[in-house]
Amino acid sequence: MIVAANFKMHKTRKETKEYLKKLKSINFEDIKVRVFPPFTALFEDELIGAQNGYPAINGAYTGEIGLEQLKEFNINKILIGHSERRNILNESQEFIAKKFEFFKKENFEIIYCIGEPLEIRKKGIKEVIKYLKTQLIGIDLNYQKLIIAYEPVWAIGTGVSASIEEIKETHYEIRKLTNRPILYGGSVKLNNIEEILKVENVDGVLVGSASLDVKTFKQMIQIA
Ligand code: PEP
Repeated sequence: MIVAANFKMHKTRKETKEYLKKLKSINFEDIKVRVFPPFTALFEDELIGAQNGYPAINGAYTGEIGLEQLKEFNINKILIGHSERRNILNESQEFIAKKFEFFKKENFEIIYCIGEPLEIRKKGIKEVIKYLKTQLIGIDLNYQKLIIAYEPVWAIGTGVSASIEEIKETHYEIRKLTNRPILYGGSVKLNNIEEILKVENVDGVLVGSASLDVKTFKQMIQIA
């Protein structure tokens, strides 16, 4: 069971340190907890991973962070393919696959995000899977440190999670493609996490907004 927090562009370094301290006041030995703060709040901690990374050790990539910078904090976990990077930062599948390959070679744990927009969901599960497959081009689905996060774009940050039926059918289809853990993400809250975690082929959750409050996130871990 994996419970991961994506802070997106929230929290300072000081706030993240306080958050981690409070988070560790509970015992979660049986659960894999992951926290993805912004770059400026990265520090060495077994729970912490990076929200992004450039596929190079270092170099002329203004505004980016590469392996050298991540290694300074012993970061070995990364989020790749988040819909906000695909859609707002216009990251192409080709570039995303390049990142995957780079960080795979570096033996990173990769939480790899996929998810369809609303117009595709409206067309039904067949179209959804067809779409998700385009987001898996160039990705080694047998990589031993891969974790898939299914995050329908229309459910991220909207307060409207996918229905239990939608999560069930989609995870079932993704399971046919990989044996690696599959997380659900998209408006996971305290009031729906329990039923979502009970769904077959749901191996955990990736939580955005609701993870920002450490008390809430701790409760979520306890429910898991
Ligand atoms: C996310 O950003 O990965 C996410 C799932 O966000 P939220 O929980 O806010 O929908």
